Amino acid sequence: MTDSAFGESLQPFAGIASFMRRPVTRAVTPGDVAIVGVPFDSGTSYRSGARFGPRGIREASLMLWGYNNAQHVKPLERLNVIDAGDVDTVPPSIEQTYAHIQAEVGTLLTAGATVVALGGDHSVTLPLLRAQQARHGPLSVIHIDAHPDTWANEYAGQPYSHGTPFRRALEEGLIRPEAYLQIGLRGPTTEAGDLDEARRLGARLVTCEEAVEQGIPSVVESARRVLKPPIYLSLDIDAADPAFAPGTGTPEVGGFTSQQMLNLVRGLSGLDIVGFDLVEVAPPFDPAGITSILAANLVFEMLSLLALRRPPA
Ligand code: MN
Ligand code: MN
Repeated sequence: MTDSAFGESLQPFAGIASFMRRPVTRAVTPGDVAIVGVPFDSGTSYRSGARFGPRGIREASLMLWGYNNAQHVKPLERLNVIDAGDVDTVPPSIEQTYAHIQAEVGTLLTAGATVVALGGDHSVTLPLLRAQQARHGPLSVIHIDAHPDTWANEYAGQPYSHGTPFRRALEEGLIRPEAYLQIGLRGPTTEAGDLDEARRLGARLVTCEEAVEQGIPSVVESARRVLKPPIYLSLDIDAADPAFAPGTGTPEVGGFTSQQMLNLVRGLSGLDIVGFDLVEVAPPFDPAGITSILAANLVFEMLSLLALRRPPA
């Protein structure tokens, strides 16, 4: 068997599915971009399945041909992207999983990599933010989601779930005051004041309805005014409408189109974004794989943002 049996020249349906067929390694050179899977979904409140997200996204990524025609950049030409494999998660223990995420991602960050994490449910963002904060200090955060994820203690006083990561991150000082933006909120909550609770904690909210009414360019323009570096981007795929992203644990109707999602990420070009995650892709609920395909394309847009900040080789 020759090297070509593993390489980029293979057809997208052939071979072993690392992200965009990048080498699977944790040997990091400073400046590398590391794709890291975090296959954990024991923090979900409704249907689980996001533990299969990294696999689904990697498989869909093999259809990304390379050149971004909207951003005029070929990310893999400017970035050394590696696939750092998956964090060693522990399904029955969110605390142990958090420790593993923080340690493994922390090691990659210390070695000088930029980490793009593939969830997993949204509970994984808390240890990712802990690792990023240890490296970069308190962060500005753009959080694109149908849900605020700032609940106090949803389940019998349990502090950690996919409904609480941003509440904990604010309490732990991982997020800078006045620098936390939630985009895409919608759908019923338990009480009238639930979204005000997020505002009281310091979040700036742009509901999905407001974003559609203002238009995406205006939403990203105000994001650019508010957020000072270092910036972290956390993207929950359920911000997209279930028509475009049915494969997720807690779908909410009335969401963004695929095109609006792509334009939200593209609009962040030029910002100093130090870390990324894309969470809540649940392949068991993903007929035709369309959620994974959208997710892979959104990760491609994230890589394009990083590439645009690097001079051509
Ligand atoms: Mn979420
Ligand atoms: Mn959500």
